Amino acid sequence: MTDTARGDSTLVIIGASGDLTHRLLLPALAELLHFQPERRVAVVGAGRSAISDAQWRKQVRAAFREADAEDAFASVTATPYISADASTGKGLRTIIREAPEGRLVLYFAVPPAVAAKACAELTPADLPEGAVLALEKPFGEDQKSAHELNEVLAALLPESQIFRVDHFLGRSMVLNLLGVRFANRLFEPIWSAEHIEEVTIRFDETLGLEGRADYYDRAGALVDMIQSHLLQVLAVFAMEPPAALVEEDVRSATAAVLRATHVWEDNPVRFSHRGRYTAGKAGGKDLPAYVDEPDVDPARETETLAQVRCEIRTARWEGVPFTLRSGKAIGRDCAEIEVRLRRVRHLPVGFTGDDDGSVLRFSLGPDVLGVEISVNGGEDPFLLRRARLHAKLGVGAQRAYADVLAAVLDGDVTLSVRGDAAEQSWRIVQPVRDAWRRGDVPLEDYPAGSEGPEGWG
Ligand code: NDP
Repeated sequence: MTDTARGDSTLVIIGASGDLTHRLLLPALAELLHFQPERRVAVVGAGRSAISDAQWRKQVRAAFREADAEDAFASVTATPYISADASTGKGLRTIIREAPEGRLVLYFAVPPAVAAKACAELTPADLPEGAVLALEKPFGEDQKSAHELNEVLAALLPESQIFRVDHFLGRSMVLNLLGVRFANRLFEPIWSAEHIEEVTIRFDETLGLEGRADYYDRAGALVDMIQSHLLQVLAVFAMEPPAALVEEDVRSATAAVLRATHVWEDNPVRFSHRGRYTAGKAGGKDLPAYVDEPDVDPARETETLAQVRCEIRTARWEGVPFTLRSGKAIGRDCAEIEVRLRRVRHLPVGFTGDDDGSVLRFSLGPDVLGVEISVNGGEDPFLLRRARLHAKLGVGAQRAYADVLAAVLDGDVTLSVRGDAAEQSWRIVQPVRDAWRRGDVPLEDYPAGSEGPEGWG
């Protein structure tokens, strides 16, 4: 990662009254400044709501207190609030003009359409030198709109000043994966179709809708998780070895993976699945059926569980199924990359028992590498049984959004999504969306708290 000087920053959070700001951004900022008190950040709130400077300051301080990092408030140099409609160029110019001096970061914690419209009305002259734009997911709503938004942004700033935020890429696990793979002869040479039989990237959570129908009912699990995050994880997992962990090398390598990624056999009808939870109990909570959650429109047929099998058409990965799956209201939280290795070419005759082949399991939070292998020994030395080895990879000092904010404030785009990669991830899921819209893939029910529908493979 690049080593960037940490000067005074002006972090303008557009969407200061929103859920993302209060639930994730402010606590993450508190955490970041707690660990890196040498930073100096003006935390500017902006939005249409009439909030006074004093109220905003109080909100920021309260968020720091709740994050057990009130000490970090000493690094906050100013907390003005700017009331403006950020969906217009005029409003955005007001925000830029009134923001205190410092390296300007405009963090769009607003509905994506607001950010897109406002950026389209700006000119490069509206932005001070070195300004950074940070945009939240979803980036566009399909490949075409993502491309158009990329063109708007490219007319304003160089790519190195544009952050398409994917907090999954900030997760220490994705980075831990690189060390395990590239620093070990045990793993680096086996990272291909020759040795790997299949890969599953899974993000299941016990949480249900949690009152986010406004956003989620229009997105669904496919866009919310697979398009936005899991394809990026796939790209990091499968990339060609970069010469250095620098922006150009890492992002070119991950984008190349995405360009080669397609739905398995180009057949979304057979190789994608969708489900929607019915009433049940998950994570110790009674959940109503998704369709009975407030503000959900059942006619949208939004899926709360999605699964897609992909292939990467390269010499390294041809023939290896990559299954991406994410669901809400599942029986247990499970965030992991499971890597199944092929069996040995010939097992000496005489062994009995479990010779299923080895499995590597990268769990996200807690970050653990699990290795499952067949071993023998004991009373019957010819009998193979499973042994599980675990290595704790260590929890990063900061959580995902603190990593994101550190990168944004440092102007280090290595782990943000490059424009072409954002377009590619829409391209990959589009055939699935089309097949689902046509009704070619059934929307299956699963009770909240279950493992999801059976027989998805
Ligand atoms: P909310 O609906 O909770 O908040 C939206 C915010 O946008 C409000 O503060 C609102 O403030 C502001 N806003 C809306 N229109 C305008 C406008 N024209 N000008 C200025 N401000 C405006 O949304 P979230 O916080 O949940 O989400 C924001 C973004 O973050 C979305 O892109 C979402 O996909 C993304 N995201 C959210 C996550 C979450 O957990 N919430 C997780 C990951 C990404 P006001 O009414 O005062 O203008």
